[in-house]
Amino acid sequence: MATDNSALWMVAAFVGAVIAIPVLGSTFGGPPTTVTNLATGTEPVDISKTQSIQKRLAKAADIDGARVIGADSEPENWLAHGRTYGEQRYSPLNKITDANVQDLGLAWTFNTETTRGLESSPIVVDGVMFATGSWSVVFALDAKTGEQLWVYDPEVPREWGRKPCCDVVNRGVAVWMGRVYVGTLDGRLVALDAKTGKPVWDINTIDRTKPYSVTGAPRIVKGKVIIGNGGAELGVRGYITAYDAGTGKQLWRFYTVPGDPRAPLDAENQHLKAAIPTWKANAEGWKYWEIGGGGTVWDSMAYDPDLDLLYFGTGNGSPWSRYLRSPGGGDNLYLSSIIAIKPDSGEMAWHFQETPGDTWDFTATQHIILADLQIDGQARKVLMHAPKNGFFYVLDRETGKFISGKNYVPVTWAKGLDANGRPIEDPASSYRDQPKMVQPSPHGAHNWQPMAYNPQTRLVYIPVQLTPYLFPLDKKREVKLGVWNTGLDLNLIATMTAAALAAGQPMPPAEGFIVAWDPINQKEAWRAKHSTFWNGGMLTTAGNLVFQGAGDGGLRAWKADSGEEVWKIDTKTGIIAPPVTYAIDGEQYIVVSAGWGGVGVTLVPEPANAIMKYGNAGKIFAFKLGGQKTIDVPEITRPPMVKPPELTASAAVIAKGAAAYNRYCLVCHGIFAMSGGVVPDLRYSTPEVFARYTEIVIDGELKENGMASFADHLNEDDARAIQAYIVQMANAAYAAEQKPAEPEKPN
Ligand code: CA
Repeated sequence: MATDNSALWMVAAFVGAVIAIPVLGSTFGGPPTTVTNLATGTEPVDISKTQSIQKRLAKAADIDGARVIGADSEPENWLAHGRTYGEQRYSPLNKITDANVQDLGLAWTFNTETTRGLESSPIVVDGVMFATGSWSVVFALDAKTGEQLWVYDPEVPREWGRKPCCDVVNRGVAVWMGRVYVGTLDGRLVALDAKTGKPVWDINTIDRTKPYSVTGAPRIVKGKVIIGNGGAELGVRGYITAYDAGTGKQLWRFYTVPGDPRAPLDAENQHLKAAIPTWKANAEGWKYWEIGGGGTVWDSMAYDPDLDLLYFGTGNGSPWSRYLRSPGGGDNLYLSSIIAIKPDSGEMAWHFQETPGDTWDFTATQHIILADLQIDGQARKVLMHAPKNGFFYVLDRETGKFISGKNYVPVTWAKGLDANGRPIEDPASSYRDQPKMVQPSPHGAHNWQPMAYNPQTRLVYIPVQLTPYLFPLDKKREVKLGVWNTGLDLNLIATMTAAALAAGQPMPPAEGFIVAWDPINQKEAWRAKHSTFWNGGMLTTAGNLVFQGAGDGGLRAWKADSGEEVWKIDTKTGIIAPPVTYAIDGEQYIVVSAGWGGVGVTLVPEPANAIMKYGNAGKIFAFKLGGQKTIDVPEITRPPMVKPPELTASAAVIAKGAAAYNRYCLVCHGIFAMSGGVVPDLRYSTPEVFARYTEIVIDGELKENGMASFADHLNEDDARAIQAYIVQMANAAYAAEQKPAEPEKPN
């Protein structure tokens, strides 16, 4: 890889992203009359000024199903995750239009005090914003000023940071009947009093012996809090659970994949009767029910109150590779599917599997949008979906029947869809016998970043990233509990990539762009290209506008109908979250969280990425007409690299270290030890850190920073070998920094 040394400033020491926010005292229960403003650390806030806020917080108590269903009658609020139960992420607000958007500027900034990814989609009710930060921290802010009203830190054990595939992110809260609900990274569901931020109840939603994590926003339907989880990269069984919003009592649990096929099915999971025969384990592979099977419900849901159906998407198989998960073939229901259930009982109404027998990490957990479209002269109630696999689907949401589908990007794994919407797999993409490059990659052509649908333009705006990915089957069939078990040989990915680069082959192209998709005619209307691969979610408004942030820190607006770029501001922090919009006192605001990360922790920063120039201080930005036109963030001074320790280890020890690094460390710290900048770049460790690999890797000395011990899999010899490999990579980077003209050759 042509090392971009300018990217390699994430200096030294596992500084991690520890947030230590003291929980605010009794802000609204009488004295004291001033409290510390936690956004700035020192400035006192006069509580008497918050009387109106208190009233607004109390009014936020009013959110219920009727109010969410009637959301269009109060467009000033953003009441639910995707604004409405149909999750279109379209706002009827039209104070900001394509004609005046050039006057949009910064209204306020809120500093979340973190440097990890921010994916939150805030809820805004009656002038109050409820947003989440890294490590599942919840903030209540005055949506007009950005002033912090309260903060709640669920105190997620930082060691849990080893379990999520893709950073310690959280995608937001649900607000209902005076309470704020958050799913925590370590698998809890917490109900907070909306007025104070204090927990009302705090329950466990997972088997804590398994590597589950929760990053998705709960949804609330008919007084039931619905929440899923993630972990299918490491090895878990997917499910979704409903809890009573009042008491936290579990109402039902819907498993998406079979457990042990010999065990009897409980009454709630009779839908698995049809799934079991589609899983075909044999001696060649793994017992899928022991590793978990996957199918986790880690993000999207939508609800149709008229049909009384709740829709959600299921994730990839665990392991990814079906050649190990189900070597006898089969579709492996209900992986990579859209599922419709009755929210009262959890009973399945229908399912539609988008990637039968998924073997590429093609999740169907991507954002679901409900809309009513005229198709062939008929009014159809549809569900629209652009999963990782690269195809855009329009389904009848009453029956689950396929209406139409088309690839929205070039794909190599399938030749198209048949009349029932089933993909026609290209046998040439099989990696059972030899490694294959496949497009889209496990990043997806579209990942969790929400899309948006504008009923005026009848276009869906899809945030797309596109790159091919190398799939080598793990011929050793190696299962390791509590770490990544994809069934791919990660060490072979690294060594083959290094060999290809050494032979002068370029890195595969990686592009990020918006596709504006016409779902009725299944064709692209326009596209807008970004300079970065990994970018933010979408918002569209009645002002004929589409908003999206990018990895370069730019928040931009395009005309929704034509794709003409009409506004840009440089926030100087990479954006992956979706913007939302609301209004207070007649003024419309656009708000977005900025903090690069997510799966981006494993991506090498691109030259355009803001993380290289400004770091990654997580912030929430709000914009309004007449606001400030520029955002000032000082550039980071990158100290020169400290000379790394001398490389004394033998080639055999370095090779052993590389193999262990690629198996256990690469998924967070990056290929060739080149960090994406969100977690520390190990090559830039100080000599003191280089001297403490045993203490860090084995003893867990830095577990409070999110670097857990790996003593369950590695011993002191392994830690020393990993250190030797990093020392080798550090010396190569150091040599390149001394001679910046010559690109580094990775080993
Ligand atoms: Ca996955």
